[in-house]
Amino acid sequence: MYDLMIIGSGPSGLAAALSAKRQGLDFLLLERDQIASTVRQYPLGKQLFSTSNEVELEPGALPTQTKPTREEVLQHYQALVDKEAINIRTAEEVRALEPCAAGFLVHTANGHTYRSRAVLVAVGGFGRPRRLKVTGENAARVSYHFAAAEPYAGQHILVVGGGNSAAQAALYLAEVEAKPTWSLRRATLDPTDPATGKPQMKIKPWVKEPLQLAVAQGLITIIKSSTVVEIRPHSACLAIQGSTEIVEVKCDHIFALIGADPDTTLLETAGAEIAADGRPVYHPETYETTVPGLYVAGHITRELHMKNALEVTPRIIEAIAARWSPTTVPSR
Ligand SMILES: Cc1cc2nc3c(=O)[nH]c(=O)nc-3n(C[C@H](O)[C@H](O)[C@H](O)COP(=O)(O)OP(=O)(O)OC[C@H]3O[C@@H](n4cnc5c(N)ncnc54)[C@H](O)[C@@H]3O)c2cc1C
Repeated sequence: MYDLMIIGSGPSGLAAALSAKRQGLDFLLLERDQIASTVRQYPLGKQLFSTSNEVELEPGALPTQTKPTREEVLQHYQALVDKEAINIRTAEEVRALEPCAAGFLVHTANGHTYRSRAVLVAVGGFGRPRRLKVTGENAARVSYHFAAAEPYAGQHILVVGGGNSAAQAALYLAEVEAKPTWSLRRATLDPTDPATGKPQMKIKPWVKEPLQLAVAQGLITIIKSSTVVEIRPHSACLAIQGSTEIVEVKCDHIFALIGADPDTTLLETAGAEIAADGRPVYHPETYETTVPGLYVAGHITRELHMKNALEVTPRIIEAIAARWSPTTVPSR
């Protein structure tokens, strides 16, 4: 019987594991893929938007002069797991959580069942990528995350989405002389906030500047006020807002970078309540769900950035240690 089972080894799950070790909890961290698989899926060489101190798990581990890259962050996380001898099993997906008298039975895809007094679910917020929901959408034509531009060199690529990920994908594609077209639903890069009348910075300045240059040089085409309405074998049809016009864009592949929702299936297997926004109901201080002993942390909550995850998660572990350690709760 473990004191704590942590599910997911992203920044939040790793922060939880370090705190659990400091608290003297007997814990196991289960990861379905490799350590920090979400960060691993960032485009190769990507520099993070966050500064080092916002994503590092040990002060001073990452460069102070520049923002860290995907590779630096991954190397830091792996080195820390090794140095701290974190009790982790990778390639072990958790399929179901079953509340029982003593805590939880944790069932994995490998056929193992573990027992734990408390469970922390830190499976991130990208479990269910949003779909375009149009005719012709299939896995061969559409990808929902962007990792590398090289395979698309020289091809016509349609990028769909209004955020930094979409803007950066278009830039990476332009660098390898692909021919990216960016379909943007809104009419401008920085729309006006109706409440304040001020422009909303949807695209970070250091992304926007090279983007505008690439557009001016004809390396990226932006089609504003557009929505994909149909995908054909070698093209996509875009409806233009405010007109009856349909624009057919030649494309060999499509990147739909339109966001994602968390996968709450695991929480549901334990009977936890999910709110109308698709995220779990949890206590604002302890992050305990509606199932006693079942906690959430990181991107599956409403704390969307690593900085928040790293600040909040140790507090959650303190709450778990205080409530569920063997000395306070010999058995349930
Ligand atoms: C391209 C890109 C750039 C980004 N840049 C930044 C940035 O600069 N700064 C920032 O703050 N945020 C950034 N983000 C967001 C950031 O990645 C998330 O906030 C962060 O990863 C959340 O951490 P997490 O630990 O909650 O979840 P994740 O990092 O998503 O980790 C969840 C882990 O759980 C595992 N898992 C899922 N289901 C199971 C299961 N059933 N069983 C076992 N394991 C499971 C996954 O494999 C994964 O390793 C970026 C996102 C993208 C896509």
